Amino acid sequence: MKFAAFADRAGEIEAEASDLEIVDHVTSLLADANDDLELVARFVQGRVFPAWDSTTLDVGPRTCYEAIARAAGTNVSADDVEERLAAVGEIGEVAASYDFGGQQGLGAFTEGGGGDALSVREVYETLVDLAEADGSGSQDRKVDLLFGLFNRCSSEEARYLARLVLSEMRIGVGEGAVRDAVAAAFDVPEDRVERALQVSNDYGRVAVVAREEGLEGLDAMDLELGRPVRAMLAQAGTVADALEEWDETAVEWKYDGARIQLHHDPDGETRVFSRNMEDVTDALPEVVEFAADRLVDPVILDGEVVAIDDTGDPLPFQEVLRRFRRKHDVAKAREDVTVRPVFFDCLHVAGEDLLEAPLTERHARLESLLADGEGLSTLWLTDDPDEIEAIDADALEGGHEGIMLKNPDATYSPGRRGKNWLKRKPDVETLDCVVTGAEWGEGRRATYLGTFELSVRDGETFETVGKVATGITDETLADLTELLEPHVLTQDGQEVDLEPAVVFEVGYEEIQASPTYSAGYALRFPRFLGVRHDKEPADADTLERVRSLYEG
Ligand code: AMP
Repeated sequence: MKFAAFADRAGEIEAEASDLEIVDHVTSLLADANDDLELVARFVQGRVFPAWDSTTLDVGPRTCYEAIARAAGTNVSADDVEERLAAVGEIGEVAASYDFGGQQGLGAFTEGGGGDALSVREVYETLVDLAEADGSGSQDRKVDLLFGLFNRCSSEEARYLARLVLSEMRIGVGEGAVRDAVAAAFDVPEDRVERALQVSNDYGRVAVVAREEGLEGLDAMDLELGRPVRAMLAQAGTVADALEEWDETAVEWKYDGARIQLHHDPDGETRVFSRNMEDVTDALPEVVEFAADRLVDPVILDGEVVAIDDTGDPLPFQEVLRRFRRKHDVAKAREDVTVRPVFFDCLHVAGEDLLEAPLTERHARLESLLADGEGLSTLWLTDDPDEIEAIDADALEGGHEGIMLKNPDATYSPGRRGKNWLKRKPDVETLDCVVTGAEWGEGRRATYLGTFELSVRDGETFETVGKVATGITDETLADLTELLEPHVLTQDGQEVDLEPAVVFEVGYEEIQASPTYSAGYALRFPRFLGVRHDKEPADADTLERVRSLYEG
């Protein structure tokens, strides 16, 4: 396909406002793309390379301005281009405003015609050369190559070339439009195109397979080692959401690091990708070593890389960033900050794709791969809110970010931020509550006070809003007992009444109207966050505040 024809179609699409019409235009573009289908399916989204491929053109705006200026003639400079850009606001419009003397007229559109007319493939091949230019003098070479292209462009070709080069296509064609257009152009179901896209991350190849091999070919497309898959994402949610939605909840610690996807072939390569599918292998030799030491099967694993201190305890997320995309002095950086992987999902083992398998099965596979537990994220299955609280408390105590709540039956949906993975919402608000009662524990905890009754102030009196029991370590319970025991007023069996003296800071998921407590409100899933040694009961939060939080 001639590039002029592509630019012409791109112009038509850009002028179209309706999504349906856009899909129609893309459909006919793909149907007419012939040998260049693979490229056209990417170009129309402003992509030169497949989505899984982290190759970049590495062309800064300035390089592009210089090439445009040179093609525009002797009296135009890169500064002039930049000035026009400041006035016009969009590089395509600027590029189209110069006369490069490229091929005009019908000849430029038709195959064979138009002599020196640019083709889509030539543009692609030149951009590949440009991406490969590396080392000293590479910026000059990039300008030369781009100049060569602009020099042969008409205004409209220049418009879309400039946008393609700067990854700002902006003609309104998103991934969904290309998916629907592939389905319509080659008469295959959209959901199967979608699945093929998920496993391959390559719109070009999916379009070609749909055309050449139809549904059968699409369904036969599998994950491939070395080609990253989009990461499944989480949305914010509460324990209450999880317990309402699923019979049982899968609970894991939320590690405070950076997402990684490991592709390990024991007889081939090991690659590590970021959440954006960027190749970060060279920055993370520990992950490569981990794989080489422990994994005997070809696998794709999903996890997090965490920075750790000398004792193996996690360090804050900022420390990982010092390592994550580092290109130079990796060995030196490694001396300063050590990282280790923790895997929580398994997408592929020895030729078998697991995207469609439920989480519990994927996790079981992961467990058998990492049999000694090193580098494995533990998954608890429970329907007990107290147990979830306890896991959360352990996570926080261990220096992790909190917990993830997952649907145990859910498949792996690449790129989706769905309801099947919830990151527990951090507390938006906390309340400072007075402890007005407690219960003596049982068994091992018989000498500790626990299950603390929480109250808020209402004038001179205190009204109860809930109880906090779980997620407190024995050590903390011992301290709290020492702090509270002198304030015991009366005791009835295991229950004690306490003189208002100690203030707890508590987190909670939400406030409900409730007849259970004297305040008329109840904190859902209250959590003990600490003692407010700096506060007297008179400084504690009020019923008024609880009411306004409930209403607001
Ligand atoms: P956020 O970045 O806040 O949207 O939270 C989601 C991110 O948490 C994921 O992309 C992972 O990088 C990270 N994460 C940490 N631990 C887990 C886990 N056990 N399961 C899933 N994601 C996790």
